[in-house]
Amino acid sequence: MPHGGADLLLSERLAARRGMTMADECIFCRIGRKEVPSQPIYEDHDLIAVPDIQPAAPVHVLIIPKEHMVNLNDVGKNDVGILGKMLRLAAKIANEKGIAESGYRVVINNGEDGGQVVPHLHLHLLGGKPLNQKMG
Ligand SMILES: [Zn+2]
Repeated sequence: MPHGGADLLLSERLAARRGMTMADECIFCRIGRKEVPSQPIYEDHDLIAVPDIQPAAPVHVLIIPKEHMVNLNDVGKNDVGILGKMLRLAAKIANEKGIAESGYRVVINNGEDGGQVVPHLHLHLLGGKPLNQKMG
């Protein structure tokens, strides 16, 4: 049996050794389970919303489903309700942050070329200033 351990990322090796899956080690899954500190703006059974730690605009909130999905490629027909909730929550938070009228942008980056950094589906809510054409 070939030895492929060197090809695995450290986190994957640690996860494998502890009998865990990548979803167990995923930073957004861990935020959803309160295993790492965050300051949730909103939380319910399905979603958690937190400020982006590297804000690209005065308002920059991440809306994250608690269930692990990599990105839109990983969304099945049973997940359509979650996507709708994410969009509705974006509008709700935009209203609460006072940017509903001035305008805001909602972005979902998918995969490497899309600029996705964390491989767990999430929506960026951006606003509070005129946004340039650069997305994300
Ligand atoms: Zn995850």
